[in-house]
This record gives sequence, C-alpha cells and structure tokens, in this order.
Amino acid sequence: MFGLLKKVFGTAQGRLIKKYRKIVAQVNRCEEALKSLSDEELKAKTAFFREKIAEGVSLEELLPEAFAVVKNTCRRLCGTEVHVSGYTQQWDMIPYDEQILGAIALHYGAIAEMQTGEGKTLTASMPLYLNALTGKPVHLVTVNDYLAYRDPEWIGPIFKWLGLCVATLTNKTPPHLRKEVYAADILYGTASEFGFDYLRDNSMVQSKEEQCQRGHYFAIIDEVDSILIDEARTPLIISGPSTESNQMYEGLRDDVASLVRHQRDLCNKLISEARKTLEKLGRLEEKSELSSLSKEEEVEFKAAMKKVWLVSKGNPQNNVLKKIKENPDLRAQLEKWETYFHAEPNKEERLATLAELYIIVDERGSEFELTDKGIHLWIEQAKKAVSHDDFIMLDLGYEYAKIDEIEGLSESERLQKKVALREQDALKKERAHNLRQMLRAHLLMEKDVDYIVAEGKIVIIDENTGRPQPGRRFSDGLHQAIEAKEGVEIQGETQTYATITLQNYFRMYQKLAGMTGTAMTEANEFKEIYKLEVLAIPTHRDCQRKDADDEIYMTEREKYNAILKEVQKVHAQGRPILIGTESVDISEKLSRIFKQNKLEHTVLNAKNHAQEAEIIAGAGKKGAITIATNMAGRGTDIKLTPDVAALGGLHVIGTTRHQSRRIDRQLRGRSARQGDPGASQFYVSFEDSLMRLFTSPRMTGFLQRFRPPEGEAISAKVLNKSIETAQKRVEQRNYTIRKHTLEYDDVMNKQRTEVYAFRNEVLHCEDPQKVAYDVLEGLIREMVPTFFTGDREHLREKAPLFCAWLAENFPVALDPQEIDSDYLKMEDIENLSIGKVLKALESKIHYQKEKIEEVKQESALDFEADAVVNAVIRNLLIRMIDKLWQEHLLHIDHLRTEVHLRSVGQKDPLLEFKHEAFALFSSLTLKMREEIAHALFKFEVFPKTREPVNEVPKIINRRPALNLSMFQEREGG
Ligand code: ADP
Ligand code: MG
Repeated sequence: MFGLLKKVFGTAQGRLIKKYRKIVAQVNRCEEALKSLSDEELKAKTAFFREKIAEGVSLEELLPEAFAVVKNTCRRLCGTEVHVSGYTQQWDMIPYDEQILGAIALHYGAIAEMQTGEGKTLTASMPLYLNALTGKPVHLVTVNDYLAYRDPEWIGPIFKWLGLCVATLTNKTPPHLRKEVYAADILYGTASEFGFDYLRDNSMVQSKEEQCQRGHYFAIIDEVDSILIDEARTPLIISGPSTESNQMYEGLRDDVASLVRHQRDLCNKLISEARKTLEKLGRLEEKSELSSLSKEEEVEFKAAMKKVWLVSKGNPQNNVLKKIKENPDLRAQLEKWETYFHAEPNKEERLATLAELYIIVDERGSEFELTDKGIHLWIEQAKKAVSHDDFIMLDLGYEYAKIDEIEGLSESERLQKKVALREQDALKKERAHNLRQMLRAHLLMEKDVDYIVAEGKIVIIDENTGRPQPGRRFSDGLHQAIEAKEGVEIQGETQTYATITLQNYFRMYQKLAGMTGTAMTEANEFKEIYKLEVLAIPTHRDCQRKDADDEIYMTEREKYNAILKEVQKVHAQGRPILIGTESVDISEKLSRIFKQNKLEHTVLNAKNHAQEAEIIAGAGKKGAITIATNMAGRGTDIKLTPDVAALGGLHVIGTTRHQSRRIDRQLRGRSARQGDPGASQFYVSFEDSLMRLFTSPRMTGFLQRFRPPEGEAISAKVLNKSIETAQKRVEQRNYTIRKHTLEYDDVMNKQRTEVYAFRNEVLHCEDPQKVAYDVLEGLIREMVPTFFTGDREHLREKAPLFCAWLAENFPVALDPQEIDSDYLKMEDIENLSIGKVLKALESKIHYQKEKIEEVKQESALDFEADAVVNAVIRNLLIRMIDKLWQEHLLHIDHLRTEVHLRSVGQKDPLLEFKHEAFALFSSLTLKMREEIAHALFKFEVFPKTREPVNEVPKIINRRPALNLSMFQEREGG
C-alpha cells in the first residue's frame, strides 16, 4: 500500500536514519562512561550543561551526552516505584536504540513516525530534557487532559531526579495558578489550553502580571496527526455575548422549515412515482435475467430513472433512493443520467430538469443552491417579513451616487441618507447570511451524525473521533441555525473576542516536532504547512500483524452479518477483539446486534469517555470484545496477557474504510504492538458513505457484471485499488479544506500579530503617556497629507477643511489663516498641529494630576499621581484596542461569508478576501487612533465619593493592576 511512498522517501529516509544511528552509538558510548558516576555526580550534569549553554555551546554538541544522562538516569530508576493515574508501578524502562533514534529526530524538528506501543512517551523525555536546559519554555502537547496528567506522572521522575521541574496544564488548571505552571522547565498540556492561554494573554488580560505564557521555544506534539490534521479544521475561538445582536433566526425558522418541507414532499412524490413504475416494469428486484422491455416501456423506464436522478439532486438522503441505489442495475441507470447531463450539449435540458426542484443539494461538495422556483416560493412566503428581496443585494456605490445627484440636500442630509442606506444594507446582508445558514442546517447538517441534541443544547460531534464537543460551537451562525432547526433555545448571538487556528498557534514555536504512529500518508501536508519532515523510525521488534484483504459486500446488512459471524468465530477461540466504528451510531447498532446474539462486550464511545483509558487498557484480556469509535482512547496502549499472545493476539475489525487511510492505519496499529502477534480485517459495503460518494462510476459497472450471491463477499484487487483511490480523493479534498481555513487565517494572522504586538507594547511599556502622545502624533502625520496634496491653490482650499477635522477630533482650534501662508510646507503644518494637540493633552493630564493630588491630601494615602494617570491611560488604550479589534473580527467574519456569495461571479473569493481584509485593516488602524484620541481627551479621573448615586458610570478599569479603588474613571462629557 505504501510502496510508492517508500520509493519517494526511501533513500533520503535511509540516509538520515544511518546518520542518526551513528549518534545513537555515541549516546550509548557516553552512557557506558556514566555508569561509574555516583548519583550526585550524575545529577550535577544538569548544572554542567547549563553552564556550557551559557558559554555558547550548542545543544547539538551536548546532545549525545545529555541523552546518555537521561538513559543512565532511567537505568538508576529501575525498580523504584512510580505512581501513575492512581496505580503504583515499578520503573522498568531504559530507552531502546530505536527510541534514542526517535529522540534525535525529535530534537532536529522532525515528526518521528513510531508505531503504537513503541514507547513515544519515554522517547520524548530526551529532547525535552536537552531543550529545557536552555531555560526557555519547552512544551509537550497531548491529545487530551488524561494524558497531560498521566505522562508527566509517568516519566516525570526522570526530570525530577535530574533537578528539572515539570508541570501539567489542563482545562482544570485554575487561572491564578497558570503563571506558575508555565514557569516550569517542562510543561505537558493539551493543544487547546496552550492556544487559549495565548489568546487570553494577548487579548483579554488587563495587565502584564496576568499574562501566563513566557514565549514559544520548543514543542513536541504527541499524536501529531490528530492535533495538526484532525483538529485543525476548527479554529480556537474565545467568544462572548455580542453587543449588537441581530437575532433573525427566530423569524426565519418557520419559513425555512416550510421551504425544506416543500422540497422533501416534492422528492417523496417523485420517488414514489418512479418506484411504482419500476415495480410495474419488474425492474425493482435484482435478477440476472431481466425481461426485455417494449419500446413504450423503455421510455417509461427512462423517465422513471430521470425522476430518481432528480431526487438524488434534491434529497440525497432519501430512504427510497438509497434502496434503489442498492440495486446495481438501477445504480448504473442513474449514473447514465448523470453522465448524460454532465455533457455540455445537454446543459439546457439539465437546467430545465433541475428547475423542477426548489433547492439543488450537492452532498459531495457540501453546498446547495436555490432554484428560481425556490426563490419564488421564498418570496411568496416571506411577503409578511421586513424585506422579501432577500436575494438582491444593494449596489452601494450606485446608490450613493444617486443620493449625490438629489438636488437641494445639504451635505449633512446626504451623509445621513448614506448612513441609513449603509445600515439597511448591513441588515440585508445579515439576513441573507442567516438564511443561508438556516438552509445549510436543514439540508446538510444531520442530527446524530454532525451533532446531537442533549439537554436542550446542540452539541457538536467530532467527525473523526465521534466525541461530543460540549462548549464548542459551529461558527458563523450555523450553531444558532441548528438550534432554530431543532427548536431548542437559541443561544444569544456570540461575538468573537479572539481566534486562532491551531496551525498558526504552533507555527509560533521556534522549534517544533511531533510524534505519532501514522504520519506518512500526510507527509506532504506536514512539510508544506509546518516545514516538518516525517521520519519513519524502525520498530524495536518486527511487526507480526497479519492484515487480511478487505471483504466487500453489496449492502450494510450483509456486511454486519459477516462481522457478526467473524466475531463469533474469533471469540470462540478466546482471542480479544477490538471493533472500530466510524460513529456513535454504528457502535450502538453493533452493540444491539451483539446483545441479540448474547455476545458480551464493552462499548467505548463518546458517551462514556471518562473511563476510556481504563476500558482500552482492558481490551487485551482473554475473551474481551470492545467496540470503539475510532481513535477513542488514543494514547493508551492495549497490553496483552500471556495467554492471549499464545492464542494469536488482538484481532482488530474495521467496520468500514475511513475517509482517510491514516485512520485505518491507526486502528490497525492497535494490534500487534512491540512484536506481539495480531491480525486485522476491514469490512466494507457499497452503502458506506465513502463508497456512495467517492468511488468512480466504473465500479458500478463492474458490480453489475460480478454481482455476488446474497451474503457473499467480493474480494478483488480492483476493488481495493478503487477504495484506495476514493480515500485519496477524500484526503485531498480535506487537505484542501484545511489549507483553505489556513489561507484565510493567514491573512488574519498578520493582522493579529500586529495588533497583539501593539497591545503588548501598551501592557509592558513603562510610560503609557508616551504611547498616547505617539498615537496622536501618528494620527496627525497620517491625516495631513490626505488633505494637502497638490499645488498651493489646493492648499488654500483645503485649509478650512483640515482645521474643521482637527477641531472635530481634538479640543484645539487652528485658524485657517495660520496655515494659509505661502511659506508653510506640509511638514510645518504637521508640526504646528501636533504642537497644539500635544499641548492640549499635556494640560489635560496636568489637570487630572492636580485633582488626584487633591484627593491625596484629603485621604492622607500614599500614591503617585503619575502612576494613577499611567494606569488609567494604559487601561484606556487596552480597552480601545480590544473593542475595535473585536469589531474588526466581526467584520471579517461577515466578509468571509460575503466573498463566498461573490464567488458566483467567477471571482476568486480568497483574493477578494485578502484585498478587502487589507482595506478593513487599514481603516481599523486609522479608527483606532481616532478613537484613542477621542477617549484621551474625554476621560476623567475623579474620587469615588463624588460619584452621583443615581448615575451608573461606565467603568473602564475592569481589573486594575494598580490599586485604583480610590478612583473611578469615566468618560467625561
Ligand atoms: P506509544 O505512545 O508509542 O504508543 P507508550 O509510550 O504508551 O507507547 O508506551 C507503550 C508501552 O511500552 C508502555 O507500557 C511502556 O511501559 C512500554 N515501554 C516503552 N519504552 C520501554 C522501554 N524502553 N523498555 C520497556 N518498556 C517500555
Ligand atoms: Mg503515546
């Protein structure tokens, strides 16, 4: 299966392994020499290495000896007790050569592909130790909280023995302890906690003391494919209630449901007509000898199949349709229509046929589109609503021009009209967006597959692990749309406060490495996106697993029967069986089948993942049958008892081929760890979604010729090949989606970095007043040239406008006469205005300080007026940055959906997005300066006691760093 990959990577990989093997030998030689040291002498190595690093010796030079120190420490730990997850164990691990090899690869920033059970946890200890010697932050990223606890308990003794400090970060780590946790030399934690802390540090905290991370030096990501590939599709989002809520879902709910019902009823009608005709013509049951049809019958048959085709475009999930597609002959007929309509000359006819539907659903592309008929129905229904032209957007430029042409309007009236129009436009866009999301919720999101309804809430199901993800929400209003669809309470519109993709979070690390059992199939992606090479590390012992060819059945029913038979057979021998499923749904289905057949078993799925690790650990016992959604319990290995090894080890059954080969390999890898015996077998049916959606039409032709008798499997090399091709196609598609998310986030990433850098400057600077002055100065320098370009004449004309702008934004007056001099250059105008503005701020600050001094006298407390003003200004700046950045994120969210609407016009949405995001950002930076300027001249610090009781002031300091309890600050009038 990986023959080609081997060919491509083989030689380079081989060379590298050879090179690293030499280093392994060096490590082992070093370790020999260390054996004679006393414990104290060995422990002293840590200080020795630190000195060397301080002298400028590179980590690479220290590597062999440092790894040897770890290995020798392991040797000395042997026999000591370790407490892991509530159990007491005896230390019995000394790194094998293969582990040292993996450790070297990790240090050099590669992804070490090491099979399950090869001991990656111990492998990581070596590069972690070496890199932590620098004193810079070193993180090990785990897939879940359980492993973030377990791993440092397990191999932490090494670090502690050597005088390093190790800590755990999970979502249960309380915020006030996080700073301490991050101070550890080596920190184990989950990806999302690291990411969220980064976001909090950079967008939520109000003082530098609250920031917990201390940089990003070296990270090793365990189960790296799971984190960087499976989880990479949903970005991390910190959100909160939105200030401006545009709740339109309620209003749309019934109309959308009705539209979708119309479509469903139509499809039901079509398919039942078609079914009747097919039945009449004797085409429904599968026969090898089909009676021939008369000419008229032939026409009838074709027409019926055309209806079936139409239903496949309107309601691909239709049950009768699914049934019809089980029949290979009919399936072939259906594909004939598909091919027919695909051809260019038949395009007109295709459109005419599709026009009968309300909505065209493209299940494969996960898209949909309203037909004219659908749009008409919508307008009909929505007549009562505020605006019924939901599908026509305003051309603002054109509308503005029309306003300009209206005679007899004053400038400010024109402006008002434009602002009103802009608001109307925004409202329309919002509604169109909500409508799209509601339709998406109905047409493409399936209950119990994409989400579950639990306790009146919509909970996302991770499509790879089948786990519910409480707390996460589909972005972009889709979550609210589903809430409306399912009739549960619609959670308030949320607003993004901060967001980052895991990809961009991890790209911040100076050095990044990863480990997993399955990375080769995604080697290309790792390289392109993270610059990470994958290195396959040989196993410590040869793999003994027997992988059988797939068994392929026509229907799911036949497939499950076959699985049942196989389970009964293997179970009778006493061998433990692990059955991997694609979803909670299928796990439960199998569980029912097993129950009926009195097979005792354990189900491990999203619903009881608390005991996941324990169940998985017990899956290697004699006679155990475990059903697990794929990758549940990742990171815990299945140990065999000796009697089981003698019987042939763990038998793994895959209930379908997954959408990526990597996940198949992951499941297989559960069996036959570290030279154990074991076997694996996959079962596939033509009703599996992979087969339904992604195999080629040729396959159906093949099946028609070789339809096996009921209950019998087909196994043919052609089919294996074809499944693999389908998988590759899906992998490619998913890669494109991830790349897409990333391309969009990359645009944001630049902006985010810039804003966060400014925010950090404000948080960390000694003198926020200076920042304030700089902002004002920058604003004026930016604005002056926009007024005064061109010749002298021009200058004279523009002078009053500029003076008006200045007066609008700052409490200063500048007489146009002062500018209107023949001697002034642009720079002089700048300096003149800056002088005035800065002076105004200075006197404002001076005045505030005096007031504070007054209070100081009265209260006889000791504080610096300057420090109070600094704190107030710092908070004011932070507040403005956060407010505007959050608004910006909202605009960006809208822009993202908007550009997709535009993609219809043959424009590249990404390009459009980049372009406009850039423009939005420019206006953000300008607006930020302007609003900061306004706020600087508006704020007022006054003693609390003078607070009028009946007025609720806007409190700007939510969590003051300095003790400001004496003062409150509000926007002065
Ligand atoms: P992986 O993460 O690669 O799947 P683990 O780190 O969970 O593997 O380790 C799997 C098992 O191998 C553990 O039970 C561990 O005790 C054992 N093991 C790892 N390294 C060694 C070693 N050097 N000597 C003995 N046992 C080891
Ligand atoms: Mg592991």
